[in-house]
Amino acid sequence: MAIVKMKGTYDILPDTSYKWSFMEDKIRTVCQIFNYEEIRTPIFEASELFHRTVGETSDLVKKETYDFKDRGDRFNTLRPEGTAGVVRAFIENKMYIEPINKLFYIGSMFRYERPQKGRYRQFNQFGVECFGSSDPIMDAEVISLAVTIIKAFRLKGIKVRLNTLGDDETRETYKKALVEYFTKYKDQICTDCQVRLEKNPLRILDCKVDRDTEIFKNAPKITDYLSEEAKTRFNKVLEYLDSMEINYEVDPMIVRGLDYYTHTIFEIEASVEGFGSQNVMCGGGRYDHLVENLGGPATPGIGFAFGLERLLTAIEAEHDLTTDVNTHLFVIALGDKARVKAVKLVNDLRCGGLITEMDYLNGKLKNQFKLSEKYNAKYIAILGDNELDNGVINVKTPNSTEQVTIPIDSLYQYVVNKLRGGSCGSCHASCDDCSCDCEGNKNE
Ligand code: AMP
Repeated sequence: MAIVKMKGTYDILPDTSYKWSFMEDKIRTVCQIFNYEEIRTPIFEASELFHRTVGETSDLVKKETYDFKDRGDRFNTLRPEGTAGVVRAFIENKMYIEPINKLFYIGSMFRYERPQKGRYRQFNQFGVECFGSSDPIMDAEVISLAVTIIKAFRLKGIKVRLNTLGDDETRETYKKALVEYFTKYKDQICTDCQVRLEKNPLRILDCKVDRDTEIFKNAPKITDYLSEEAKTRFNKVLEYLDSMEINYEVDPMIVRGLDYYTHTIFEIEASVEGFGSQNVMCGGGRYDHLVENLGGPATPGIGFAFGLERLLTAIEAEHDLTTDVNTHLFVIALGDKARVKAVKLVNDLRCGGLITEMDYLNGKLKNQFKLSEKYNAKYIAILGDNELDNGVINVKTPNSTEQVTIPIDSLYQYVVNKLRGGSCGSCHASCDDCSCDCEGNKNE
């Protein structure tokens, strides 16, 4: 029996891969404009890294990681998210020598989740991580970068929802208030939340089971527990966002699932029909203790991650991404000698930047013409023994009667000029560069 792909994975075939390139190219361009540099880290790390960063009690680490012991008895985990690996690399490579590091990554993540539409076991994220500044201006910049990505794809209905988890003092008082409140309803919350109540009460608000119940709606809100300092800081973030005319909504119920967040956290959604609650494209926040917790020097940080499958679906809902990349030239060779010359021609033309194709099955003339149609070739060059002996080649324009015979050595220039829109009928240079006395009679 044939082997099939693993559950929750999928192939990106050529009829889709160009869409991924389009999306990734645009993301890279926006990152470049914001002066963020790319970082690539391994897809597996020591399991302990994720236990210490994402948190032992998070669903991610408890239920969703792909863990394996290697042949040297080391515990490895396929990365379920990007931040932990980037922070590890930041410390290990002493990147903190620079006062500020603005980084981005694009890559596959792995989570053992129940596969469904928009939820895979191997999926792709684009994320940024910014180290070195705790200034609220950095929070605003990171959010504006995420918004710019969505705008670059002209997606509609962008909603930025943000909240603050405040400083350590805020979180401690708030956690106490949550424990006091939810203890009263211990029997009515799910078993996971009962554990969270003991181990990480903040995470209760992330509950997917009971989120919409009255108990949850009436739970204490962090906004009522913010220290003066945390409040001032959060207001500064909002002021900078206002200054950039970025619309947002403060949502005190967002906590985000990972242990490492402090201060600003945010989610960005774009409205896509049929997406329902899955329209959150991007989530992120500040993590001022993470570098220190992993053994590096105290360094503030902030970042976000976009789910690229979701982003691509949203882009496709708005735009027709079909491309019509045509082969510039298809070279037909007839006979062994001609094939030797054709191989060189095709290689030279490719080196010169022309999209060039030929037949690899040693087909008959008719079949080679058919193949040139499949490739949508703009021009077809035909080379047989006769032409070879005379140092010439025939160039035909498909679906027209136009055919010229030109010196083989001028083929590259001829095609380039034709693609540019015209060339001299005698010397085949472009009309601007024409050196013969044809007085600019274009060979169209
Ligand atoms: P998170 O790291 O959980 O905040 O996820 C950030 C983004 O990654 C989400 O908003 C989703 O768009 C995407 N994402 C998370 N998990 C998956 C998954 N299993 N399959 C596809 N996309 C995912």
